[in-house]
Amino acid sequence: MRNYLSHAGAVDAAGHTSQQIRDANELIREGLRHADASYKVAFLCECEDPSCYDAVWLTCAEYEQRRAASQPLIVPGHRAPAAAEEQP
Ligand SMILES: [Zn+2]
Repeated sequence: MRNYLSHAGAVDAAGHTSQQIRDANELIREGLRHADASYKVAFLCECEDPSCYDAVWLTCAEYEQRRAASQPLIVPGHRAPAAAEEQP
């Protein structure tokens, strides 16, 4: 398991913050706002690993449900980032 990130908010050059991933997922969803709600889309995993670019396959409707419940999109087996994550 890749787990070299020891403090929240810091990423290496190839990594990303979970905020960037959420923004990217929002853009994916925004681009599909006219798509059918049952359309399956590969969103980006929002786990704690900044080098993770795995896909989370959800329908647009499922994505909206996760967002409404403030649940991160996580590949099974990956760990969600800390709830109280601080952004610089
Ligand atoms: Zn992940």
